[in-house]
Amino acid sequence: MEIIILGSGGFQTIPKPCCQCRVCAEARIKGPPYSRNGPSIFLKDINAIFDTPKDIVLSVNREGIKKVDNIFYTHWHTDHTEGMRIVEEITASWSERPPFELKNHSHPINVLAPKQVIKELKRIKSPLGSYFDYFESQNYIKIKALEFGKEKVLNNIRITPIKNNFDGRVTSTSYLIKEDDKEAVYMPCDPKPFESLVFLEGCDLFLVSSPFIESKQGLKKIPKTHPLRDELFSLEELIDLIKRYKIKRTVVVHIEEMWGLSYEDYKLLEKKYAQYNIIFSFDGLRLKV
Ligand SMILES: [Zn+2]
Ligand SMILES: [Zn+2]
Repeated sequence: MEIIILGSGGFQTIPKPCCQCRVCAEARIKGPPYSRNGPSIFLKDINAIFDTPKDIVLSVNREGIKKVDNIFYTHWHTDHTEGMRIVEEITASWSERPPFELKNHSHPINVLAPKQVIKELKRIKSPLGSYFDYFESQNYIKIKALEFGKEKVLNNIRITPIKNNFDGRVTSTSYLIKEDDKEAVYMPCDPKPFESLVFLEGCDLFLVSSPFIESKQGLKKIPKTHPLRDELFSLEELIDLIKRYKIKRTVVVHIEEMWGLSYEDYKLLEKKYAQYNIIFSFDGLRLKV
């Protein structure tokens, strides 16, 4: 399988609006790989986007993607959904004859997520009602509800949604993606708390939500009681996971502006942790599994 990182940023993208810090100032001048769009990946084998952050249209254009057949969602948070109307941008056009209505191009895009996540996505509304209901009524999308733990087969790719957290804050999903004997896991946001992570055993590619990273130039040491520790792995916890489950390659996604580190700082971290095969992703990174 082949995966393209559409956006390597997190809840705040880089450059952050109005921010004059050295990371954002550099990103504003240089663009990718210094700038980071919102969190999303493209699985080329089945023309699938995972999540639609606000700048998804820009990311899709930047990577020269010609077709989107499927969109998987991990959860409703706005940093993952705000660009949901990409479906009408791709599929809609005006009819040539009266009554000159907006129509779809007769190939609705599949929207896939666990049914609990679909339920939450459908609650994102305009004053006239649910956006997803409207897109469905216009035949821009076809919603396909998945079950947590149940595999969905699309061509040669098998995808299983896995429930991330059990504390009721948000229904967040990881996706286990398999092709033949190869396995990738996409776990972009809210990874904690997890009941079991055994599905990571021997994983070929682990695309994981950025751990919080304490450093001299960025985020200072954070206290043991800080709420970030309830939501995100620390770097030490991530290394523990890599060792315990013998993960072959780890690619960090959802990289936050507030870590205060530049593209080059992450290159240095990669060198420091080379023995664990950790890569800090950037927009446009292509990965083969
Ligand atoms: Zn900044
Ligand atoms: Zn997020």
